[in-house]
Amino acid sequence: MKLFYSPDYVGSAYGFDTTRKAAWVADSLTSRPISGVEVLAPAAQTTDDLARVHDPGYIQAVRTGQSRDLAESQGFDWDPALWPMVLASNGGVLAAARSALGDGASGTLSSGLHHAKRDHGDGFCTFNGLVIAAKALLADGTVSSVLILDLDAHCGGGTAQLIADDQRIWHADVSVSMFDQYSDHANSVLWEVDRAGDYLRTVEQALAQAGRIGPFDLCLYNAGMDPYEGCGVGGLDGITAQVLAHREQMVFDWCRQRSLPVAFTLAGGYIGAGLDQSTLVDLHRLTIRAAEGAESSAGYWTAPASRIPAISAAL
Ligand SMILES: [Zn+2]
Repeated sequence: MKLFYSPDYVGSAYGFDTTRKAAWVADSLTSRPISGVEVLAPAAQTTDDLARVHDPGYIQAVRTGQSRDLAESQGFDWDPALWPMVLASNGGVLAAARSALGDGASGTLSSGLHHAKRDHGDGFCTFNGLVIAAKALLADGTVSSVLILDLDAHCGGGTAQLIADDQRIWHADVSVSMFDQYSDHANSVLWEVDRAGDYLRTVEQALAQAGRIGPFDLCLYNAGMDPYEGCGVGGLDGITAQVLAHREQMVFDWCRQRSLPVAFTLAGGYIGAGLDQSTLVDLHRLTIRAAEGAESSAGYWTAPASRIPAISAAL
């Protein structure tokens, strides 16, 4: 399985989990390789792909640092390396999506995507690489429909805003924290979970509903680990590493059973009093392992060209 990462993902001077943890996970794959995983550098996101989703004034601010308020609206101090960092990590989502369409499953060590809005950043997210990748592949005719599955602890309010005008994209969002909450749109459905005992059942319901809305040509999976009970930024008591391992198996099994190509991103997960760096890395490795297991299963993938987009009809 191809997994996308380059040192540019962690290039900004501002040190925070979102701007550093891709390197922690990549380093772990050097010291403790996962069999079958090949780490590759993606092409940087093009400005054409960015401009399809984000406001030109906001893109300019992130590139130049002016205005500073706008350039830092995601919550990071701006420096010139922020621009190449976000182009690399957002480009990684598109690279992983293209790779998944060929191989069945792929991923990128990108995070900081789903809260980004059209004209500003939010919640450690600068640009919304999930929507950028979906719209790039829809624009060039590579796919006709995309499922964005978001199991980060927090709500994907940026994604909901950015896809509201495009019924070819459907967004299933299971959250345990109401940060960036939104009202359901025709193509974004939010499930709120406040008891750990309901979590996996709710993920199952979200997948079942996606199954009724689809089929889709591609799944982009925002695989946040911040629902973990030890995570101080979104964690829910009772959501253990075992629960999250089960979740990852469910998601990739569900995709495999449908021959649905899937590309994952790391999304949330933050070190703190209840979550140290090596535990966080191991949580994210659960996603990589489950994806690699799905990708290496025989007969995973069938040509997406054979699929008929059914989202508009279903809605
Ligand atoms: Zn989150």
